Amino acid sequence: MQEDDKLSPELVWQADGHLTEIALTALGDGEDAILPDGAAAHVARCPSCSTALGRTALLSLRAGEVMRAQPASSCAGEPAPARVPLPISAIAFALALSALGAAPSLVSGAGGLRERWAALWHACSVVVRTGWAVAGSGALSGWLTALPWISAALLVVVGVGVAWTRGKQLSLNGGM
Ligand SMILES: [Zn+2]
Repeated sequence: MQEDDKLSPELVWQADGHLTEIALTALGDGEDAILPDGAAAHVARCPSCSTALGRTALLSLRAGEVMRAQPASSCAGEPAPARVPLPISAIAFALALSALGAAPSLVSGAGGLRERWAALWHACSVVVRTGWAVAGSGALSGWLTALPWISAALLVVVGVGVAWTRGKQLSLNGGM
């Protein structure tokens, strides 16, 4: 990745230290490669930005639904795209972000179990907030069918956190 391909800092960071709408949209679209290092980690740690990311994911979901609802007159020969019941990719991305952002704090908080759980809880809460935003919007009639997905996502977060913590302890015990 060349530096030229990344967004310039003034497009990414607001004056108050939070991410801009542009950066959040890029994250929600999975285009984190164009963001400078630290942007994704900030979202995972910052409640304000992670909430905003959830909203952004919801907006792109709605945009996607509107586009899918259009009659495919211009490309009648092509099969209609399958309906996506949930912004799984957006939620999965928020999830990955959370794990990514929580991981350093899990490690640095190696002395305190409570801090580790706090980081883990924050990671989970990002996913819950994203799911809640989707559910509360009423945009998805069959969203209840997605509950297993959200549960699975939470389990993955916890699993990643536990695996990371264990891995760190093992490497410490290994004399590193
Ligand atoms: Zn922030």
